[in-house]
This record gives sequence, structure tokens and C-alpha cells, in this order.
Amino acid sequence: MSDCIFCKLASGEIPTNKVYEDDTVLAFHDMDPQAPTHILVIPKAHIASASEIDESNSTVIAHIFEVIAKIAAENGFENDFRVVNNCGARAGQTVHHLHFHLMSGREFTWPAG
Ligand code: AMP
Ligand code: ZN
Repeated sequence: MSDCIFCKLASGEIPTNKVYEDDTVLAFHDMDPQAPTHILVIPKAHIASASEIDESNSTVIAHIFEVIAKIAAENGFENDFRVVNNCGARAGQTVHHLHFHLMSGREFTWPAG
């Protein structure tokens, strides 16, 4: 998607504050952090939202959760984090390239607002 900001981060066209990268997944610091640690984990391939996950692309979703566990362990918060996905405008999605918010470093309330 040529006009997608996260595709541009994934391809390296726009530089980002990278936390982790492999062939299919990129993790980088959110530019507007909502917690002391706030990382976004994305598939490099464009998937617009969680509603587009299906059998053709779900392997990368499983891998994203492996990466999340790895990042948490390497940064010492393996048992202390929240993962959030906003799907659709009413749920708060503003960037239409699938991403998981990985947040830690503070208490979180439930249910989320
Ligand atoms: P959401 O509202 O769930 O779609 O989350 C989008 C997130 O992307 C927000 O937390 C933004 O702060 C973050 N964001 C948008 N553009 C960038 C960027 N270029 N680099 C880092 N984070 C970004
Ligand atoms: Zn994209």
C-alpha cells in the first residue's frame, strides 16, 4: 500500500525507532507513548485490520505473539504487559495497517475505557 505509513516504516522508506525486526515482523516505539514502554508490533505485509486475519495470513499473527513474548522477556517485563489491538474507528483504530500495542511499566485498569 503506497500511501500507508506503516508500510513505509516496514520497508525502511521512513526511518523508525526500531525494537525488533525480521523478515515478516517489525516492532518499533510508538511516537506518542501511553505507558513507559509502548511498542507497536506489525506484520511487514499490509493487513488493514484484525478483521482481515484469515487462514492466508494468520501464520504471521502467531509469529507476532512469539515476538511479543521475546521482546517482553528481553526487556524484563515478561509477566507484566498489556497487548491491545484496536479494530475499526469506533474501537480507536487510526492507522489502517494491523498493529498490536505492547505496553508495560504502569498499572492498567480493566475494563479499558
Ligand atoms: P491506533 O490508534 O490503534 O490505530 O494506533 C496507532 C498508533 O500509531 C498510535 O498510538 C500512534 O501514536 C502511532 N503512530 C502513528 N504513526 C506513527 C509513527 N510514524 N511512528 C510511531 N508511531 C506511530
Ligand atoms: Zn500498510
